[in-house]
Amino acid sequence: MEKLVSLGIVENYFEKLKNNLSVDAAIVGGGPSGLVAAYYLAKAGKRVVLYERKLAPGGGMWGGAMMFNDIIVQQEALPILDELGVCYKPYREGACVVDSVHATSALVYAATKAGATIFNCYSVEDVIFRDEAVAGLVVNWAPVMREGMHVDPLMVTAKTVLEGTGHDCMIARLVARKNNVRLNTPTGEVAGERSLNVEQGERLTVENTKEIYPGLFVSGMAANGVSGSFRMGPIFGGMLMSGKKAAELMIAKING
Ligand SMILES: Cc1cc2nc3c(=O)[nH]c(=O)nc-3n(C[C@H](O)[C@H](O)[C@H](O)COP(=O)(O)OP(=O)(O)OC[C@H]3O[C@@H](n4cnc5c(N)ncnc54)[C@H](O)[C@@H]3O)c2cc1C
Repeated sequence: MEKLVSLGIVENYFEKLKNNLSVDAAIVGGGPSGLVAAYYLAKAGKRVVLYERKLAPGGGMWGGAMMFNDIIVQQEALPILDELGVCYKPYREGACVVDSVHATSALVYAATKAGATIFNCYSVEDVIFRDEAVAGLVVNWAPVMREGMHVDPLMVTAKTVLEGTGHDCMIARLVARKNNVRLNTPTGEVAGERSLNVEQGERLTVENTKEIYPGLFVSGMAANGVSGSFRMGPIFGGMLMSGKKAAELMIAKING
């Protein structure tokens, strides 16, 4: 039995790893926008892999606001919750309240059920840069990165890459810095996030979701960060709609 347990895990894990070394879409970060993008890409039949450096995907969605574990989702984003089977309670002025633990686990479930593969405890440390385009990711174990160990990474080629890393926009930053290129942002660089403004932040999250360099798309707070727009706190409709828009743009690019 002991041998079966170990063999079952090792054989299947390496099969999964092997099947995801060359994909249609590689997503960095398992926050709400990355998970929703993974769901729609997988639903469209694309081969999609998502890397999350923490043990549990879900990003900043689990904790609600100040650990009060409810979040707000506005009316425009409810079709996404309906499609993914997430339960919500109508509140006021079209806004709904959602239990953040229920919603986060539902996004993880929906993405993986649709066929996306999630690798947790992986840190994306760089991109593959070829022919003036982002062509994949360079990944390593998150604990290896945290310990600062000198261990070389693995490479994963991808037709499209999505940065959904949240506030830091670390992928966009390193693409611009290491390759000395200008991004499709107002400044040509990572402009950096502004202070909180809920209405503007929600609208601009979706507007700023785009391809910022050939092969590299941004979603969620990373989309706002690169374009210099507002944070918004524990309202999540913009994150969900941003993930859906990112998937649509990436599908169009993959399909050529
Ligand atoms: C811990 C945390 C606390 C937050 N607190 C606030 C807050 O107080 N106020 C506010 O307005 N917003 C906060 N946010 C962001 C907020 O939750 C967002 O509105 C929303 O969650 C953003 O969604 P997102 O899809 O952009 O990704 P996020 O929810 O930000 O998730 C990004 C994910 O990417 C992962 N990641 C980052 N870099 C890498 C990498 N190199 N390789 C692999 N995975 C990576 C992170 O571990 C995280 O799970 C927080 C986010 C996090 C992660």
